[in-house]
Amino acid sequence: MSDTEKKSGWLARLRSGLQKSSSKLSDNITSVFTKQKLDQKTLDELEELLIAADLGPSTAARLVAEFGKNRFGRDIEGGEVKIALGEQIAAILRPCAVPLNINKDKKPFVVLVVGVNGTGKTTTIGKLAQHYAGQGLKVMMAAGDTFRAAAISQLKIWGERTGAEVIAGEQGGDAAALAYQALDKAQRSQCDLLLVDTAGRLHNKDDLMQELAKIIRVLKKMDASAPHATLLVLDAATGQNAHAQVEVFREIAQVTGLVVTKLDGSAKGGVVVALADCFQLPIHAIGVGEGAEDLQSFDAVEFARALIGFGQ
Ligand code: GDP
Ligand code: MG
Repeated sequence: MSDTEKKSGWLARLRSGLQKSSSKLSDNITSVFTKQKLDQKTLDELEELLIAADLGPSTAARLVAEFGKNRFGRDIEGGEVKIALGEQIAAILRPCAVPLNINKDKKPFVVLVVGVNGTGKTTTIGKLAQHYAGQGLKVMMAAGDTFRAAAISQLKIWGERTGAEVIAGEQGGDAAALAYQALDKAQRSQCDLLLVDTAGRLHNKDDLMQELAKIIRVLKKMDASAPHATLLVLDAATGQNAHAQVEVFREIAQVTGLVVTKLDGSAKGGVVVALADCFQLPIHAIGVGEGAEDLQSFDAVEFARALIGFGQ
């Protein structure tokens, strides 16, 4: 497959993945703006529909205020609204569209992956392994979610798929000890990238905090600069609840970037805009499906256009 074909395949998946979010937003904009003068009532309606699309109240208010500035009292129709909002949304997203930069001088570059259970951590690790192994990097994965047997076997399957070595212990074993063992092995075998999976039992914040702190401490003992990236994986379907997760995990681990998964099938894609606006953390990648090719780097314009329903 050529790069152009790959790109258009991804765009199609992104658009169809975001369709539930974009059709809601797009249809609502069309029904609010039926060729009429822009007045306060229409602006209020626009604000409400942006909130309903999970862009969050403060981002929605800001978008609408900016949008209304030079247009108040003018005739306006849906198409123009979509173009203008698409540009405003892209401007919010742009500073966050930062790819994960793997420093090849680090052997290995250590990526710690954190997040609540079920958000897509293990799957994201598998997809990242596939991506970077495909670029010729020597990749290793550490099955640091020792809590669930399924997480270990799930990672082993990605290992078989990608050719990346998986370091796994017994279920119920010590996650920090496993992280130590994995980093030791990755250093000795001159790996480029070590992806460390973790458990995400949020019902007990203290336990989680202690476990992650211990993993980080152990990694730092072997390489003071590790982990070189700490990715928080968020499930788009949780909507505004994602904000609380960012706050908790920023406190527990030094989150350096986000991955937002399950944008397919969720009508809450707008949460990505709210997250970008609120936290200004890099959004390294987004997931629109379970396959390896369904995780891609985040592009502000592409995402804004897909969210607002262009090119459907
Ligand atoms: P973890 O508990 O955070 O490690 O989550 P998992 O990686 O086990 O993922 C939980 C479920 O979500 C699995 O069934 C995955 O296949 C699925 N999943 C992960 N990412 C995506 C995505 O982007 N889209 C969809 N539709 N499913 C996903
Ligand atoms: Mg997992």
